[in-house]
Amino acid sequence: MNDPSPLAFLVRPELAELAAYVPHPGTYAVQLNANEAPDLLSPDTRRALADAMLPPSLGRYPESHAESLRELVAARVGAGAHEVLATAGSVEAISLLIGTLGRPRQGADAATMVTTTPTFFMYKHCARMHGMHVVEVPLDDAWDLDVEAMRHAITRARPNLVFIATPNTPTSNAVSEDRLRAIIEAAPDSLVVIDEAYAAFARQSAGRLRREYPHVAVLGSLSKLGFAALRVGWVVGPAAILHEVDKFRLPYNVPGPSLRGAVFVLRELGAELVRLTSFVIHEREKVAVALAGMGFGVAPSEANFLWVDTKGPCKEIFEGLAADGVLVQSHHAREGRIARHLRITVGMSHENDRLLETIARWAPGAGENARRG
Ligand SMILES: *Cc1c(COP(=O)(O)O)cnc(C)c1O
Repeated sequence: MNDPSPLAFLVRPELAELAAYVPHPGTYAVQLNANEAPDLLSPDTRRALADAMLPPSLGRYPESHAESLRELVAARVGAGAHEVLATAGSVEAISLLIGTLGRPRQGADAATMVTTTPTFFMYKHCARMHGMHVVEVPLDDAWDLDVEAMRHAITRARPNLVFIATPNTPTSNAVSEDRLRAIIEAAPDSLVVIDEAYAAFARQSAGRLRREYPHVAVLGSLSKLGFAALRVGWVVGPAAILHEVDKFRLPYNVPGPSLRGAVFVLRELGAELVRLTSFVIHEREKVAVALAGMGFGVAPSEANFLWVDTKGPCKEIFEGLAADGVLVQSHHAREGRIARHLRITVGMSHENDRLLETIARWAPGAGENARRG
């Protein structure tokens, strides 16, 4: 830790309770902890993408409003370009929405967000860094939305924003659409943000709800589709709100090469994206069946990872896997039922096989001898 600065009294008080995001350190032969996609691009495609990313002049600023990317996204989701804002990863969209819609309601000292737990940690992190209160409503026994509890929280907290990821992380399932709809209808004067970072791996997108309700926005990202390095995301939502968000956005927020790369991906690599999602879904089902066969609990995944109930404390399994060069994400430091869970990204076939081979040592269905391995 650094010595306290003599200027510490100037720092926003909310930051005292927050920690900067640090990815798990170290290098592992098999990294299945961050929901990154397996790299399936051919060398030729990689080269074509690299060429596309290089702008005609490095001395010029990129497109100021990411027009070309916004038009492509808009066409894909049936929106107008003025209903799309491009961001440096969808986490920037999360931060911009929270920063913009931060006005406390009458009589309140700060604005409030309602979200679920467990879910993507950035909702709470961004809310707190902007001084917003957060109400977290536990998901139900099947990790689906608890409509009554959400309704209660919305009525009581009168949130400016409601954040829901579907498919959700770390739980991997998509939420029920009728429940999502009920929550949208219970929050007519909040912005309900549906995070669809994993929608490409799901049976269907909830994105169309945006066209039915004027107070819904949808987040998208290239990060889980094999292009996390580009840092490109977007929000599709009400034009009048995005007009205000655009003031909060810093100029040229998406770097030129990333913008050009994203346009190339969406315009030219449609077949590669389909190949990636089919591959991941196929491997996901293979790994899910194998883990369930060993006696682990496996939530029905519609994402590129699995939420695995180890039926007991999972710290030992996490550490055993890591010692064998397989990094997954463990929730053993959390409380209650969550603490029994590992989140395991679907990787390349050989990586998934290696995971299965190693984790079999801790199979809850296996006998005591097998467990001691
Ligand atoms: C990974 C992830 C994102 C992606 O964030 P980027 O900034 O686009 O990389 C967004 N939402 C959820 C729920 C995620 O898991």
